[in-house]
Amino acid sequence: MKPTIALVGRPNVGKSTLFNRLTKTRDALVADQPGLTRDRHYGHGRVGEKPYFVVDTGGFEPVVDEGIMFEMARQTLQAVDEADAIVFIVDGRVGITPQDKIIAQRLRQNDRPVWVAVNKVEGMQRAVVTADFYELGLGDPVAISASHGEGVRDLINEILDGF
Ligand code: GDP
Ligand code: MG
Repeated sequence: MKPTIALVGRPNVGKSTLFNRLTKTRDALVADQPGLTRDRHYGHGRVGEKPYFVVDTGGFEPVVDEGIMFEMARQTLQAVDEADAIVFIVDGRVGITPQDKIIAQRLRQNDRPVWVAVNKVEGMQRAVVTADFYELGLGDPVAISASHGEGVRDLINEILDGF
């Protein structure tokens, strides 16, 4: 089976950066501006003999109002619906935000396997940076750096082991 892995999370956590690394392309638009990715984005990658699909999410405008949360929830739910596994990306330098909690709540209602990826923690102590994120109620958080590649291979291997 070639599983579909959805990358979900609030704007600017590093979804597109991780997408690029998992697909080894520069396809996804990585931005300094939160929320710049305008559409879901599909790609594929492979670890050893194991192929997978990846879906980047975040197709909403970078305007801060309640409509964003609604749109993000809609995008997230749609991607989650189509996926076999979810990577829920959070920002290890920022900590848990209200948006993270809303997404986590949605994901807990779904029966898809979820990995919480604590991103942007290059050079930091894994146990320390992941500790806060147990509160999301989605199991053991995994420390990664999408931009530096730390922890990414372990994460994808762990996900693919289930398929
Ligand atoms: P998205 O909105 O979730 O798709 O986030 P992006 O992939 O566009 O990344 C948002 C910002 O975070 C960009 O400036 C990235 O360079 C930066 N970023 C992504 N991953 C990492 C990481 O592992 N470490 C650091 N320090 N910055 C990162
Ligand atoms: Mg993006």
